[in-house]
Amino acid sequence: MPQGVYLDNAATTPVDPRVFEAMRPYWLDDWGNPSSVYAVGRRARRALDDARDRIAQVLNCRANEIVFTGCGSESDNLAIKGVALAQSEQRGWRHLVTSRVEHHAVLHACEWLSQHLGFEVTYLEVDKLGRVEPARVAEAVRDDTALVSIMYANNEIGTIEPIAEIAQAVKARNSATVFHTDAVQAGGLMPLDVQALAVDMLALSGHKFYAPKGVGLSFVRRGTPLVHLMSGGGQERGIRAGTENVPYIVGMTTALELAYAEYEQRVAHVSGLRDRVVAGVLGGIPGARLTGHPTERMPNSASFTIEGADGESMLLNLDQEGIFASSGSACTSGTLEISHVLKALHLPEEQARGSLRLTTGVRTTDADVDRLLEVLPGIVERVREVTPALAS
Ligand code: PLP
Repeated sequence: MPQGVYLDNAATTPVDPRVFEAMRPYWLDDWGNPSSVYAVGRRARRALDDARDRIAQVLNCRANEIVFTGCGSESDNLAIKGVALAQSEQRGWRHLVTSRVEHHAVLHACEWLSQHLGFEVTYLEVDKLGRVEPARVAEAVRDDTALVSIMYANNEIGTIEPIAEIAQAVKARNSATVFHTDAVQAGGLMPLDVQALAVDMLALSGHKFYAPKGVGLSFVRRGTPLVHLMSGGGQERGIRAGTENVPYIVGMTTALELAYAEYEQRVAHVSGLRDRVVAGVLGGIPGARLTGHPTERMPNSASFTIEGADGESMLLNLDQEGIFASSGSACTSGTLEISHVLKALHLPEEQARGSLRLTTGVRTTDADVDRLLEVLPGIVERVREVTPALAS
């Protein structure tokens, strides 16, 4: 275990030792290609089939509605590009709807379709808490809307979107419009019953719930129009060619089962610590404000703006104290650009520049939070002194 206080569980999580143990046999013993007909391949095939059945149990869907992918980004791309191309071919529909606060995997997939293939994209505004209003979604859906993609929970500000209501609003307006949700941040910490959520497609990524990085899945409701993006062998019912990563798929399955078997304890643990972070930061640092929704937010997510303190400088100072945090999403950290999510909230620039995201996990302790709350006020003071131009 590396020394330090890890408060960036929305970026990634460590592999659970039980997940690691579950994967081990599929490297060392049952390492065959699941498409091979002989015994070692058949054992790998059984593990793969079993994983699909077990995931289907958790998501409350059919096993053949699960497609294993290489990551959350791939699942998002499969949904957006795969559905857009199919709807265009089958119906001539070439309009997409998404929100301004989506992950880049969604936004850039939409931009790609518009730049290269001339699709039209409507980007919905969010309110100042980052919520997408179901009625606004319904208004944006047209007779030729191929797909609506709205995330389940935001990776930067933790806001949870009313997915079931949005799905119903979309279907009431146009029953053949496909509704996809990027549930990457929600995986393991929010209910994932796809019938209750009423979604046609849903994306998950293993490394957000204590499985390895580099494995994900898509739920694809039976009958959803979808063109495959990866050509090759007939794996994953021809939707995603490529020899399946059996150890990682078994690991992700075990991790998902554990997350929902231990759901109440995990949510209570991460949200209790999260609430301590929120109370401590808002109470101990003048000029600190919570970003995102105060109650409809991920149980592990505390996100702030700290006026007059540059976000990147806070991260570097925290790092020197052995505290690992984030300023917006991992992809936008390291650049001075204000993240597209904070821009969409229309925050004043001097606030948005001081963004700080602290996300708790199953291994976070009270002592970790104590340490954060002990050093953060001093760091903010120091950072404010060296960034006078930003001070209010
Ligand atoms: N969608 C959201 C909301 C995310 O937070 C992330 C990763 O941070 C992704 C998609 C991409 O997932 P992956 O890292 O597995 O490609």
